[in-house]
Amino acid sequence: MDASKYKDINLPDRILLGPGPSMMPARVSQALSMPVIGHLDPAFLAVMDDVKDLLRYVFQTENEFTIPVSGTGSSAMEAALSNFIEPGDRVLIGVIGYFGERMVEMASRYGATVDRIDADWGEVLDTDIITTALKKHPYKLLALVHGETSSGALQPDIKAIAAAAHQQGALFLLDTIASLAGSPVKVDAWDVDVAFTASQKALSASPGVAPITLSQLALDTLSKRKSPVGNWYMDLTAIQKYWGGSRNYHHTAPVHLNYALREALRIVAEEGLEARFARHQRNVEQLWEGLEELDLEMLVRRENRMHTLTTVKAPPGADADQVKQRLLDEYNIEIAGGFGPLAGKIWRVGLMGHSSRKEYVTLLLAAMREVLSSA
Ligand SMILES: *Cc1c(COP(=O)(O)O)cnc(C)c1O
Repeated sequence: MDASKYKDINLPDRILLGPGPSMMPARVSQALSMPVIGHLDPAFLAVMDDVKDLLRYVFQTENEFTIPVSGTGSSAMEAALSNFIEPGDRVLIGVIGYFGERMVEMASRYGATVDRIDADWGEVLDTDIITTALKKHPYKLLALVHGETSSGALQPDIKAIAAAAHQQGALFLLDTIASLAGSPVKVDAWDVDVAFTASQKALSASPGVAPITLSQLALDTLSKRKSPVGNWYMDLTAIQKYWGGSRNYHHTAPVHLNYALREALRIVAEEGLEARFARHQRNVEQLWEGLEELDLEMLVRRENRMHTLTTVKAPPGADADQVKQRLLDEYNIEIAGGFGPLAGKIWRVGLMGHSSRKEYVTLLLAAMREVLSSA
């Protein structure tokens, strides 16, 4: 084996304005270079306790069970669905884009009978339609995506929807992967039973850990399971024994990713949630205004837009993929294209966490003006 052909990794310095990962603050990168220690070392247990505390602040909850699972956002989604579904359960899932589809797929794999309520990509679901649908069958749970990153739409009215689910005896699960820490997510005030997120979106930590929080009702439901959870690795009752009191080994925690998450959460707490939400709103509004000045149209109507991700229609005649590629090649800026029914039709611009900065908005708008004028 001639190892000399493998050169040093030489990574470009990108400006990340896509749907995640977002830019990582230098303090978070530094946390990643700290020494490895054992996952049962008292020093690491102290890190874990801080992470749980800080996560409760960000989720706006007092839920004791508030931890990061090991894996990206999809692993928390997998944990949420596998722990609360037993084979034969009937579940209701709202689908307003690709990540709702993913929940349908996962729920089916865990043996649920899945009913779905759909809205076109870019639209949101009507609360009355959800309430009516909930009455058709006794559902084990209702699951929705809060910020649908594939379309840019933010599902409103979460509190009323959670109340409607509870009225019918269903648990309420919410994917807050792309919204948490960028716009308000009030787990306790809204009465969400299971909320989950990812480290690399508006939290701006490194990808690989995924926070999840469970209400008392969710914990009661878990304790009444008749069959073992269909996914060994994501069995939350077993994982809680490591993150909670008895500290039993379940799997080796990715310690660095937890150092990084702790630092990212500490930065969120220093800024304060309200100031952070205001910053995301201010910057995204500047983006929308600038895009309109370029005669570009947003996919989602204003009141339903996410503050962390904007979907922009590619104008007739523009090659959406080529524009995206030129932004990367000529300006080092990463944005994303659309997929599914929106493939080739839109761009997705993320202003998540540390990426939500005025100077990036100004730069992106100038770069887009340049690229579009010579496309
Ligand atoms: C990114 C994302 C996911 C998937 O998370 P991964 O970290 O890519 O596994 C799920 N739901 C939403 C809304 C997302 O934005």
